[in-house]
Order: sequence, then structure tokens, then C-alpha cells
Amino acid sequence: MYKKVKGFRDIYGLESRYWQKVEKILKETFNSFNYQEFYLPVLEKTEVFNRGIGSTTDIVEKEMFAFEDRDGTHVALRPEGTASIVRAYVENKLYNPPATSKYYYIGPMFRRERPQKGRFRQFTQAGIEVFGSAGPAIDADVICILYKLAENLGIDKYVSMEINSIGCPECRPAYYEKLIDYFTDHKEELCEDCLRRLDKNPMRILDCKNPNCKTITKLAPVALDHLCDGCEEHFTGVKSYLDALEVPYNINPMMVRGLDYYVRTAFEMVTDKLGAQAAVGAGGRYDGLIKLLGGPEVPGIGFATGIDRIVALCMLDETEKENEIDAFVVSFKDISDKAAVKVVKLLRDAGISADMDYDFRKMKKQFSLADKNGARFTIVLGEDEMAKNTATVRDMESGGQEEIEISNINEYISDKLRRN
Ligand SMILES: [Zn+2]
Ligand SMILES: [Zn+2]
Repeated sequence: MYKKVKGFRDIYGLESRYWQKVEKILKETFNSFNYQEFYLPVLEKTEVFNRGIGSTTDIVEKEMFAFEDRDGTHVALRPEGTASIVRAYVENKLYNPPATSKYYYIGPMFRRERPQKGRFRQFTQAGIEVFGSAGPAIDADVICILYKLAENLGIDKYVSMEINSIGCPECRPAYYEKLIDYFTDHKEELCEDCLRRLDKNPMRILDCKNPNCKTITKLAPVALDHLCDGCEEHFTGVKSYLDALEVPYNINPMMVRGLDYYVRTAFEMVTDKLGAQAAVGAGGRYDGLIKLLGGPEVPGIGFATGIDRIVALCMLDETEKENEIDAFVVSFKDISDKAAVKVVKLLRDAGISADMDYDFRKMKKQFSLADKNGARFTIVLGEDEMAKNTATVRDMESGGQEEIEISNINEYISDKLRRN
């Protein structure tokens, strides 16, 4: 027997219904904010991620599915979407003519992390990116989309929004100096990773999960207290737009971003319903990234959400059924088999989901199939009905039934479904 690759999984049955629902709502929400879907390749040259994510990050150092192609090209399965979309934006010169561009993507990402409960090496992310707008209004709007997603999915009760400002190249050097001073005084208590971070990226220490580091971090200086006037004004703007949009949020001064090109606004939508506190979505402003990947100086902001986690939250509420079709046609071989395929076609042409038993089993079996498929209506084409060119339509919700002329059956069902 063949088995799937370690860290990968199959999604089917009830869970796949939730996935469909989540993907549908994500797309509707992004479209309502005037974002366009960007279909990106799953494979990129490895250098895109080395540059765009950073060659010293865990993702690039340890977690990428990277390999040499037969022609010697170094390629990698994408571990995230942002570097790819920025590569595409620059390569296709989408910055010409200058405008604000809004994109979204949905698709699988790959990271060779240690497999553990709820974490897979192929996972799905949906994200948005805005290129070409630097002001706080767009930051608030982007955060608003993330929150709106939670509302539209009915999981806003499980999440909270945290925001922060992490400064910019103007205020960061002075802040880093204070941070390095502080942690140097506590050097002997820091974990090994953080000792390395102390030189390279001291802000990352604030994010360390090591209990000792966490204790020291509590009193460390935070970027929010060391913002330049420009960053201060920007953050005040973001908050006032969020208030206007009635998006609830907490300020979390400990939230950081691992890479230098992240500036000013950082945000996360978190939940405590999936074990330890986990981010369902995270994003921020990255004004330096487009230039870093060879493009012009265009500001950017975006977020990515983990669909696996969103689905897990949605599944806390048992609302979906494994299947739910509008109509199931019950028919009999040599009596109504041809009529049945015609009725099913008539219904499907009218946008009504319909099915039948193509093996024409016994009537009882067909009714149980209708039930298993969650059919709202069963349509029986028996001998009597055939003689009159009618069908007996039973409403499985109310239990009532009516005899309907076959030619009217699509309108009859459409009308009943509309009234529901
Ligand atoms: Zn600043
Ligand atoms: Zn540490």
C-alpha cells in the first residue's frame, strides 16, 4: 500500500466542505475590497526566497523544499507568498504606470518543519498585498479586511486583533542601541539563538519563546516608545482609521517582525482556541522589499492567513453537513431511467444541484442515497407519474409532497429554494 509523504495530508469529507466554504468567503471578501486574484507559480528560483525572506531566517536556512533541477537551476517550493508576488510585480513591471495595486492569492505553501499536531509541510495560505500606498489609511483598511474575514466566516468571537508599530530606518538605529544595551546587561540569561540575534537582529529577541528570554524581555525597551515623529504620526493615523472602521484591536508592543524591510505597522489576528495562542493571520508594512527584489522604491503592505487554522476554527461550530444537494431523482430502470437523466439535466441547467442513482438500485436504497447526500427534495419518477408526465416532489424538510408536471419541475424547485 502506498502512503503519503511525511508531513503531508489528504483533505476530504466534511473537512473539505469547510475548506470550500472558507475559500468561497475569502474570495468574496477580497473581491468586495476590490482586490484582484494573482495566480502565482508554486516553484520559484531559490534566490527569490533567499533575497525576499532573508538567507539567515529559519525558513530559508532549514525549512525550504529546495533542490537542484535537472538543468542545474536551484529551485524551491514556495514557503510563503509575498516574495513570489513581489518578484512577479517587479518582473512584469506592474508598477508602470504608478498606481495603487491590490492583489490576493490563495494556495499551498511548503515548509519542511518538524511535523506536529495541526502543522503540516504543505499548508494553505491566503494573503493580500497592496503596492504603492504609504499612508496610514491603507494600513487600517488592510487590517480591516483581516477582521472582516473573521466576521464573514463567523469566527470573530474566537479571535482578537493586535497591532503595533515597529519603527522605521530613521528611528530604528537609536532604538536598537538601547535594546542591545539592555540585553547585553542580561547576556548570561539569554538562550543561544538570542545571543546570535543580539548582533544581527536584536528585535527578534522580543519574540523568543524560551522562558528565560521571555522573563528578561518583559522589561526590555520596545519600539513603540522610541518612534520618530513620522512613525508616531503614522501609528496615530492607523488607530484613528481603525476606530472609524470600528475594528476592535489591542496594542501589543512586543510584536516584532524578523526582517529589516518591515517598517511601522505590524499586526496579527490571534486565537487561544487552538491550543497555545496562535496567529490566524499576520501582516505588516514592508516598504523596502520591492526595491530589495530589484524594483523601484514602491511601498507595500499585506498579510497572510493560514487556511488550515481558519478551517479548524470554523469546525468548532458544527454547521456544515458532509453533503447538501438540492434534489435527488429516484427512478427505475426501463421505466423512467431516460426521464431521470433528463430531469437531472433540467435541474442542473437551472443552477440546481442534483443527482440520481445511475445504477437504478431498489427504491429504498435510492431514498437512503438521497438522505446520505443531504438532498432537500426527492423527485420520484414512478410508473404512475410517467403515465401522466409528472413527478412526485417531496420536501424533505417539511415532509410535504406535491405532484408536479415534469416540464415545470425546475421552476418549482427554484421557487421553493428562493423562498427558503
Ligand atoms: Zn520612524
Ligand atoms: Zn531566546
